[in-house]
Amino acid sequence: MGKVLIIGAGGVGTVVAHKVAQNSNVFSEIMLASRTKSKCDDIAKAVAKKMPQVKIQTAKVDADNVEDLKALFNAYKPELVINVALPYQDLTIMDACLACGVNYLDTANYEPKEEAKYEYSWQWAYQDRFKEAGLTAILGCGFDPGVTSVFTAYAAKHHFDEMHYLDIVDCNAGDHGHAFATNFNPEINIREVTQKGKYWENGQWVETEPHAIHKGLNYPEIGEKESYLIYHEELESLVKNFPTLQRARFWMTFGQEYLTHLRVIQNIGMSRIDPIMYNGVEIVPIQFLKAVLPDPGELGENYTGQTSIGCRIKGVKDGKDKTYYIYNNCSHEAAYKETGAQGVSYTTGVPATIGAMMFMTGEWRKPGVFNVEEFNPDPFMEQLMKQGLPWVELHDVDLEFTY
Ligand code: NDP
Repeated sequence: MGKVLIIGAGGVGTVVAHKVAQNSNVFSEIMLASRTKSKCDDIAKAVAKKMPQVKIQTAKVDADNVEDLKALFNAYKPELVINVALPYQDLTIMDACLACGVNYLDTANYEPKEEAKYEYSWQWAYQDRFKEAGLTAILGCGFDPGVTSVFTAYAAKHHFDEMHYLDIVDCNAGDHGHAFATNFNPEINIREVTQKGKYWENGQWVETEPHAIHKGLNYPEIGEKESYLIYHEELESLVKNFPTLQRARFWMTFGQEYLTHLRVIQNIGMSRIDPIMYNGVEIVPIQFLKAVLPDPGELGENYTGQTSIGCRIKGVKDGKDKTYYIYNNCSHEAAYKETGAQGVSYTTGVPATIGAMMFMTGEWRKPGVFNVEEFNPDPFMEQLMKQGLPWVELHDVDLEFTY
């Protein structure tokens, strides 16, 4: 049992608040804080409607400001912070955690505002300080990164002597009815999908032009979808933690409409992250674009279809070649019915809650900074089944890739 502080009241924060409240046997007190307090109040009200016995406190905090965070931490005294604000705030929140003796969990690695680049080096640099303080930092505990990393750790523990090839496949076959919308924060999403592709092969990174490599892949209950090789952050820690991997790639499906809109957005300069002057005011085009695009947290109501995310792995077990596919399918409609948020927020918020449960119950608690695949995957996998993200395993099947 412990006190938890959730920071960020977007789509993912909405799901975390619901799931933490559903597990009030593990979380003794809950606070939700964000830049706009009214959003926290709305979420707390929605949770109270479904679970009147659970009280969520709310607060305003500027998570870019360490002093502001420290004041909140010292007043509320949480045991753990679940950071589901934006990747820009990871380091300030980690600094405040160190200053106030609070443990930390997030779903996305740090990214500087002024450069569309994400890597773990900034957060891994906190390793000694968290260790010396006796605090735990759990990095990347959403779906991807997060569940995909735990799936890989589970495969390594139970099904392989050596893993050689890893393909993470992420399909969103949902329809939200908008011509163009992103499924999580538009600024972060567009920065991610417009960058160059990158994958790991034979001990080094291979870079590609954006979306240059693609192929049709089949997803369970969905069928064939064009899937594009993109760089994704869990590849960085997975190749480090599973050094037998000869190749590691990440594939994501995009519809033609989405890609056309993305190309236009880039061509007309709306994805720029540098400030420009407009009518005497400095604005950042991608931040302005975010303001006019549909709010990902509001997409849920008419969202149909499902997501399918998993790991396809080839390697060796007992001297024989083995293939293995583990995945979860998540229905947007079911996610909305349970939490008022769509499937992408749901598949991120549920694992973040489970990671927090792992910490609170002592399963994932050790001093230092860790990626999720460095912990025991078994209790987390058990909770996925109970908390709304059941998984399916297929053994020795055709993985569709030519090795
Ligand atoms: P949203 O943009 O919907 O929500 C972000 C929330 O953070 C908003 O409530 C926002 O406040 C708040 N926030 C932003 N800046 C600050 C600040 N300086 N201080 C306090 N609060 C702040 O994003 P999502 O909910 O879609 O995504 C949340 C996180 O989840 C992101 O980091 C995203 O990268 C990550 N993610 C991870 C995935 C995974 O599988 N690992 C998948 C999808 C998302 P305001 O409302 O005032 O703007």
